[in-house]
Amino acid sequence: MAGRRITLTTRILISLGIGVAAGLVVHQFPGSAWMKTWLVDGVFAAGGQLFLRGITMLVTPLVLVSITAGAAKLGDVRKVGRIGMQVFVLYLLTTLMAVSAAVAVASLTQPGAGLDLSHVTREAPVAHERLTAAQMLLEMVPANPFKSLVEGNMLQIIVFALLCGMGLSALGAQGAGMVGVVDGCNDMLLKVVGYVMLFAPVGVFCLVARTFATTGFTAMAPLAKYMGTMVLVLAVQLCVVYAGLLAGLARVNPLRFFRKFFPAFTVAFSTSSSYAALPVTLKTVEENVGVSEEVASFTIPLGATINMDGTAIMQGVATVFTAQVFGVHLGTMELLTVVLTATLASIGTAGVPAVGLVMLTMVLQSVGLPIEGIGIIIGIDRILDMTRTAVNVTGDAVCTTIVAKRCGQFDEALFAAD
Ligand code: ASP
Repeated sequence: MAGRRITLTTRILISLGIGVAAGLVVHQFPGSAWMKTWLVDGVFAAGGQLFLRGITMLVTPLVLVSITAGAAKLGDVRKVGRIGMQVFVLYLLTTLMAVSAAVAVASLTQPGAGLDLSHVTREAPVAHERLTAAQMLLEMVPANPFKSLVEGNMLQIIVFALLCGMGLSALGAQGAGMVGVVDGCNDMLLKVVGYVMLFAPVGVFCLVARTFATTGFTAMAPLAKYMGTMVLVLAVQLCVVYAGLLAGLARVNPLRFFRKFFPAFTVAFSTSSSYAALPVTLKTVEENVGVSEEVASFTIPLGATINMDGTAIMQGVATVFTAQVFGVHLGTMELLTVVLTATLASIGTAGVPAVGLVMLTMVLQSVGLPIEGIGIIIGIDRILDMTRTAVNVTGDAVCTTIVAKRCGQFDEALFAAD
């Protein structure tokens, strides 16, 4: 499986390179009507749109099913009481910190400044309707969940899914059959994500070629800045937030922690999948870091499902970037919506490659930004997926270690041993 994934990654990277080159060549012939009509607005646009439609097709069902499945497992959180609640709060707090930092840094570095793609999208970007906090709260509750599904109102779908999941977990054994069905649907949809990703090399080529054919070299600098911003925020999350929490809340040496956790970090990096890394993460946290099996066996799988700080960072930076390239101003209320929806989207993101990008559509839609924003960043997302997945699993291990240490479930001697 890993071999196939690496092959796909390589194929996407190659098509990214060819797409950039093809786009730049086409850009050299601004007067050619043939190239503009048939190539840029014909083949490139159609191939790119086909891929984007494939991704968009999956968002609504995936949000409904993955969040219901996740919330159905919250029954376990209650079962393990104190430990469960502590780790849940830590997971949520670290994600909120991550996405807030992402939005703040991206607003400062302005990665999208200088690139104007407002003409690339067919739909005009819709400025988000300004709502008061009370209206926003009211808007989150669906009057008719089926209407929310048809309209793709993500916040309403999330609220409905959370409530359904909680209902399922409250049913206990009686709800087990239905939980199985929901889990099955989740697995099925993830398979379909895999099928759509098979088309990614073609889709990436078309999207990137169209971007560079339209903008030429002007697209290079913003994309490099986008990558730089992302890597900067991911590094801050690792070296400042996690190191600070480990030293402050758990009183463990962060450097030693990172050294001992390194095997899991590298597996997450190379597979771009929190789920694929799960067995190694579990083993590393228990056998190298020193967390008891009782705690880790519950908190690490939960974290691989709901705690995705690296993904939340990507969604925050990507949304601000998209707003900048489409010339949409995001006010305080919109930025708060981004923080909230990116937190929820990262919770709903499955720990497999590229799903964070699918869930990004939900964040973009929540503030009325065109999903074409994804088309610009998808080419370089494969590399960033590796880095954010490594941060995702590190976040799970950090929160687990803090809780284990505070609950007396941590083996100091094992942690100190080389
Ligand atoms: N690849 C990520 C993970 O498995 C999810 C994502 O952001 O796409 O953790």
